[in-house]
Amino acid sequence: MLTPRIEFNLTKISHNAKKLKEYYGLRGIEIIGVTKAVNGNPKIAFALVQSGIKILADSRILNIKRMREAGVQAQYLLLRTPFLSEADETVKFADISLNSEIIVIKKLSKIAIALNIKHKVILMVELGDLREGIMPAELENTVRQVLKLKGIELVGIGTNLTCFGGVKPDERNMAALSTIVTDIEEKFDLKLQFISGGNSSAYNWLSTTKEQGRVNNLRIGESIYLGKETLYNKPIPNLYLDVFTLIAEVIEAKIKPSMPYGEVGKNAFGVIQEFKDDGPMLRAILGIGLQDVEVLGLTPILDVEILGASSDHLILNAKQTHLEVGNEVAFNLNYAALLSAMTSPYITKSSN
Ligand SMILES: *Cc1c(COP(=O)(O)O)cnc(C)c1O
Repeated sequence: MLTPRIEFNLTKISHNAKKLKEYYGLRGIEIIGVTKAVNGNPKIAFALVQSGIKILADSRILNIKRMREAGVQAQYLLLRTPFLSEADETVKFADISLNSEIIVIKKLSKIAIALNIKHKVILMVELGDLREGIMPAELENTVRQVLKLKGIELVGIGTNLTCFGGVKPDERNMAALSTIVTDIEEKFDLKLQFISGGNSSAYNWLSTTKEQGRVNNLRIGESIYLGKETLYNKPIPNLYLDVFTLIAEVIEAKIKPSMPYGEVGKNAFGVIQEFKDDGPMLRAILGIGLQDVEVLGLTPILDVEILGASSDHLILNAKQTHLEVGNEVAFNLNYAALLSAMTSPYITKSSN
């Protein structure tokens, strides 16, 4: 089989999606399946839809196009605030988008009118993480303008936490979201369909709170793929943690010194590396590198140690494994490694 490759199990993805849908469903929360970490992979998207997920979300139009063109029947939500320059594609390919700029929504409106369709908008509100979102004091003003726009339907209010600032969803910011939603609904006499409280990091708040408030929607990626919540990286009960495995091949295996010898300067990435002299060791070089994957996010399943990587090589202390040329070495992946591996054209995608 080709290497490097990323293997994934569609039955396990379905299982995780169903369990999460059930878990959140019991709390009145619908989950949207986020596909950006898997590059909008159509097989995975199909598995999500077959597990009962009705809305798929991606940060990139290209990924949404990819899933649509593969015939995956779902509603599509664009996660990243649309670029002014891609308003056309946004309206054409996404049914719903998350927004925080009125100038963008006005352009979406123009295009929706021209196409004679309605584009749905969820307004993002800033609650402290400082990535996308309208400041709460500005929200009323924005809603007033959005409601006047033809071709646009305001369907919800959402927030995003734990992405830039690392701010946790807690009683205070989640209660603030509920209050904001209720205020807006009363002021404008409307009923919002989506109160979208966050991502895979909302798990801890939700599983411990007695006051869930108005939150009825979450956008979930990581928990489906890695079986974990994202705040403390803790496994969620009854989910598979081993959906994805990265496989690379040994291209050199030799006993070599553990210390580079000769005069040492900067390496290929401009860094002067520090080394420890552990005497001669079995070192294995794998045919995978920084151009393929976020190497820092890999954890070997065998008892070996990652010593470092360059563009195309990953260097292991092979310890007692007796690795030989041609052997395959398997790794678990974190979110960044998953994202990069699924996006890499050099890594074969292999589902079972
Ligand atoms: C990526 C993203 C998500 C999903 O996050 P996970 O940690 O994968 O659950 C949700 N919302 C927005 C706006 C995102 O960009």
